[in-house]
Amino acid sequence: MKKTALITGISGQDGAYLAKFLLEKNYKVIGTDRRSARSVNWRLRRLGIENKIIYEEMELGEIYEIQRVFGKYKLNEVYNLAAQSFVGTSFSSPLNTANITGLGTLRILETIRSTDPKIKFYQASSSEMFGDVLEKKQKETTPLNPQSPYAIAKVFSHYLTQNYRNSYGMFATSGILFNHESPLRGEEFVTRKIIIGLIKILKKEINYFELGNLYAKRDWGYAKEYVEAMWKMLQMNKPDDYVISTGKTYSIKDFINKATKYLKMNVAWKGKGLKEKLIDLDKNQVIIKINPKYFRPAEVNILIGDSKKAQQKLKWKPNTNLDQLIQIMIDDELKYS
Ligand code: NAP
Ligand code: GDP
Repeated sequence: MKKTALITGISGQDGAYLAKFLLEKNYKVIGTDRRSARSVNWRLRRLGIENKIIYEEMELGEIYEIQRVFGKYKLNEVYNLAAQSFVGTSFSSPLNTANITGLGTLRILETIRSTDPKIKFYQASSSEMFGDVLEKKQKETTPLNPQSPYAIAKVFSHYLTQNYRNSYGMFATSGILFNHESPLRGEEFVTRKIIIGLIKILKKEINYFELGNLYAKRDWGYAKEYVEAMWKMLQMNKPDDYVISTGKTYSIKDFINKATKYLKMNVAWKGKGLKEKLIDLDKNQVIIKINPKYFRPAEVNILIGDSKKAQQKLKWKPNTNLDQLIQIMIDDELKYS
């Protein structure tokens, strides 16, 4: 029998890749978004699946909308990907972040518990929960030490997912995904911002762009591969938590160096601190500057995941390294920009 999956946050990066993956597995896919999003389904269009999804409006702040949608379908799996997902914005909009990224999960869990507790539930947890890290490599048992309203809201949702699993025997699973990027990544996130910026410079559309902390390190994987891990978690016999990561970490500066190399740009770093700049040596022009407005009130300096459990139990492993990921992102940006 054809399974039915509901994805919250269908208009986002992971929503698009997951929908494509599930459609290929012959699922009926219900995608929920909020009213504003309908006109911005560019990701689903890019993947050629815009017309294969059943859309429902569901603002995560509104329990009645959630109850209405859950009452309309017989669901097998629910993937909760919707969130105020940007750490930077969580500092300027902490209440909205808590309401959507935190309480939004509770509204869904309560709806599942009270309507059909057999539904399998996936929660999009985040490596940001490890924050100011308490172990060199972060795994499922590493203590959480969140550093932003976003990460704190994700911790709330993560513990609730465990609590509903333990209290009510629900199949509630938490995927602790490290940063994952793609050509479909939001433009405010640093990887896509860098690639868009460099390409605009090459096309002479801008002279320079600005960044914050160049020395933060992230474990960056390819989003298209990470959504498969989400699905695999819900196919297990028992619900559990899994870290999904590459096990390698690079700084923002490393990312820029790799991207400029692939774009064959002749560049060099000059200066220190707020005066650090990237110079295009051919044009003798500054192309990246530092602007403290992009610094975060509290930073997560380094993340590096240990996904051994997922590799053993889910038989999942990452297949795309950072050089390959950068190539995929640049090639696509050149094609569509
Ligand atoms: P994304 O591209 O920012 O997508 C977030 C989605 O949530 C969008 O569809 C957005 O809709 C929706 N949304 C925001 N506020 C909403 C609200 N009030 N009601 C209903 N929907 C709302 O994020 P992503 O990169 O695909 O990530 C998917 C999930 O994984 C998120 O929960 C994120 O926090 C988490 N996560 C991501 C990463 C990563 O590296 N990408 C790592 C760990 C965890 P609009 O289009 O209307 O804004
Ligand atoms: P995050 O790990 O979910 O916060 O993903 P981001 O891509 O937003 O940020 C990754 C890291 O890049 C963080 O440590 C940021 O402080 C750092 N960073 C440096 N400059 C920028 C910038 O201009 N924009 C963003 N988004 N991040 C930046």
